[in-house]
Amino acid sequence: MIDLHPLKLELVERIGWLIRLRWVAVVSTLAGIAIARLVEPALPVLPLVTVTAVIALYNLLFLLYARYLWRRRGTGIRRRRSPIFAAVQIVFDLLALTALLHFSGGIENPFGVFLLFHVIIASILLSRLASFGVALLASSLYAGMALSEMSGWLPHVHLPQLADPLHYANPVYTAAHVTAVTLTLLLAAAMASSVAERLRRRTQELLQASQICEINRSELTEMNERLRQLDAARTQFIVMVAHELRAPMGAIISALNLVLGGYAPPEKQREVLERAQTRAYELLDLIRDLLELVRARRIEGPAQGVPVRAEKVLESVLGLLRVEAESKGLSIEVKVAPDLPPVLATEDQLRSVWTNLISNAIKYNRPGGRIAISLTHDGDQVVGSVEDTGIGIAREDMPRLFEEFFRGEQAKAMVQRGTGVGLAIVKRTVESYGGRVWAESELGKGSKFSFALPRATDELVAQTSENNQKTS
Ligand code: ADP
Repeated sequence: MIDLHPLKLELVERIGWLIRLRWVAVVSTLAGIAIARLVEPALPVLPLVTVTAVIALYNLLFLLYARYLWRRRGTGIRRRRSPIFAAVQIVFDLLALTALLHFSGGIENPFGVFLLFHVIIASILLSRLASFGVALLASSLYAGMALSEMSGWLPHVHLPQLADPLHYANPVYTAAHVTAVTLTLLLAAAMASSVAERLRRRTQELLQASQICEINRSELTEMNERLRQLDAARTQFIVMVAHELRAPMGAIISALNLVLGGYAPPEKQREVLERAQTRAYELLDLIRDLLELVRARRIEGPAQGVPVRAEKVLESVLGLLRVEAESKGLSIEVKVAPDLPPVLATEDQLRSVWTNLISNAIKYNRPGGRIAISLTHDGDQVVGSVEDTGIGIAREDMPRLFEEFFRGEQAKAMVQRGTGVGLAIVKRTVESYGGRVWAESELGKGSKFSFALPRATDELVAQTSENNQKTS
């Protein structure tokens, strides 16, 4: 919707202008009467001054009413009443001008053309229809005056200095005069109102354009802010990555320097190099996790997944990790609900989710501990969880678990090798499909990590199997 208030407000301001203009007209009329009287002694001064005084009086009343309306600004009254107020003023002015013309020679007075001003003012201030109305009223008043004087119904003031004494009584002359005035006024209304209308439309278009610009500007500001935040997050990420890479790299370089510089005695050299090797593997783990994290971070907005069977992926991950768990003396219990719907993800991503959660349950468990894995569905979501009887997590660490590079103190003390990136990958992956992850834990007793992923819709399942059939 276009806000038209500025256009209406313009009319409100023009009313003040109309009133000021009328004061000028009053003073000019009085001066005009004085000058005309010198040229034309037949001019009746009293009725002319009286009409001018009436104009001054009603202008005073208009001024008071305009002030009253001004005090009511913001209430809507001023905007609603202003067009009517302007029309009433123009009607008063037409009546006053007709009276002035009548007392100063009727159609003999060349100042009859002043009627044009009122039509132009109406065209500027009011609608096209209203300006035609004013043109018709002005013509009617003029014709009424001319005909009344011609028929003798109103006394005619003859100005011998200006016109032939018989003009006003000549029907052909009067008709021609009145027709010319009427046509002039109507044409003026047509021309002035079409120009005014076009200006109003342009103003309206400009307003609309400026409102659109305003909307675009706020959208741009919003986007700019989002970009700024993304940029800040990326910079922070790079700083964190550099920091994490520096520690193992520094350790490797100093171990190599020890050996190459001959600072480590030969019997210690192997030990130092083994330490460097461990840190190099750590670095490799970190780089692998970082690559995966970057892949997960790259997914902006809802990711494009396919229907994947979470229980199948779990089976294949367990095939690889079971040996590691058993070597630590851990038992694994798996409970999968029957008739699980497929979830929305990719097989690789789901494998990474299961691998990270189960590896942690193995890594942070104690010898002889248990791991319970379950997969169920809850409404439109499939819920997977991995529970262990390991070291647990301190309460203050819980809010930071899914942050990139975060590692708990207990975890660091127990397992030196770790990147602190695994859970961040899980979170980003699951959330990119509209799912969520959460953790429950008690320090010293164990932890339970769960994730919920939306099930793939039946249409997507049907569409994917159709595509698979086509390609095979
Ligand atoms: P990493 O295992 O390489 O440290 P993760 O992102 O996988 O990185 O885990 C982040 C932190 O969350 C771990 O350092 C540890 O403090 C805590 N954590 C994750 N899983 C477990 C778990 N099963 N038991 C106890 N603590 C855990």
